[in-house]
Amino acid sequence: MKNRKLVMIPGPTPVVRSIQDQMGRETVAFGDPDFVKDFKEVIGDLKDIFKTEGEAFVVAGTGTLAMEMGIANITKESYDVLVVSHGFFGDRYVELCQRKGLKVDVLKSEWGTIVPVEEIEKKLKEKNYKAITVTHVDTSTGICAPLAEIGEVVKKFEDTLLVVDGVCATAAEPEYLDEMGIDVLITGSQKAFGVAPGLAIVLAGPKALERRKSLGTIRDYYIDFEKWIPIMRDPAKYFGTPPVNLIWALKESLRIMKEEGIENRYKRHIRVARAMQAALEELGFTLLAEREHRAVTLSNVLYMDGIEDGEFRKVLAEEGVVVAGGLGAYAGKMFRLGHMGNIDFHDLVSTISAIERTLYRLGIKDVLGKGVGKLAEELLK
Ligand SMILES: *Cc1c(COP(=O)(O)O)cnc(C)c1O
Repeated sequence: MKNRKLVMIPGPTPVVRSIQDQMGRETVAFGDPDFVKDFKEVIGDLKDIFKTEGEAFVVAGTGTLAMEMGIANITKESYDVLVVSHGFFGDRYVELCQRKGLKVDVLKSEWGTIVPVEEIEKKLKEKNYKAITVTHVDTSTGICAPLAEIGEVVKKFEDTLLVVDGVCATAAEPEYLDEMGIDVLITGSQKAFGVAPGLAIVLAGPKALERRKSLGTIRDYYIDFEKWIPIMRDPAKYFGTPPVNLIWALKESLRIMKEEGIENRYKRHIRVARAMQAALEELGFTLLAEREHRAVTLSNVLYMDGIEDGEFRKVLAEEGVVVAGGLGAYAGKMFRLGHMGNIDFHDLVSTISAIERTLYRLGIKDVLGKGVGKLAEELLK
């Protein structure tokens, strides 16, 4: 018998039945009064949950489009921008900003570590940076940036807007825009929201909206805040066709979030991550990210000697769990395991058990039950 495939990559994450059902509904006109009401509620909920007096934008696209939207609306050519990079997705902002004609300085860390906050502060004093980008959780390394501290530092610089890439963090790691000094938060639907891929989600605080206004006409069209603001305030209006079923799916995801309570959701993610990480270490793996800055949304797991990446992931898939490979210099040396969104105890036990069976089949015989035992022990604490 074939095992069902549990998708434990860092996005798309498992989509629960009630969210899938929203995508299977009969599509209605985007002007349908019931849909307009639902869309309005989605926008209101996003602003409430992530606490901003600014604006929320939900458009068809991916996290990368959200990244582009985030920076395009607060900068113009030749502005100085600082990119803090903890890996592959931090680096993505470098090219993205350069293509827009921005003058980009980069602070990079060794993969698995952070750029110290003091270094960021020192750098910000050097120039009049108009924006700084920080990846909250870099999916390539499993590092979580100390966002609250960075926010406090950036607040001291009047002209510098803080753009946070929350694609692998939002809805799992705390992000409250106005109180944390986040001016723009960008994310996507397929990671900790647990919705299928296809939505770019951007939240802009009051300072970011002011900056957008002061820029006049910008070069970008589809991602221009000014084009979308009338629609986000009154979704009966039209600019580009909203992805009706995905917006319903997001609405269901937000309902689940409100039912759980966002603070409880953050705490659950910590508990799950620490238990999964303890179980993986119990099995003899090591984790790339330094312990103090480990993400709760995924684990970046280094292989022990004698385990080959391609074979490990092939056998693991046969055992019913799909994980992602390493990026950059860690390709072939590491796998990436997502544990975010709407997953439960069953998913976690199945995942660790499948990893044990995989190791067993690859010749490491003394693992069966070890990781699962550790996992349960941690989760029952
Ligand atoms: C996945 C991811 C992205 C890119 O999102 P896409 O939806 O694939 O375009 C950007 N940043 C981070 C941190 C991510 O994890």
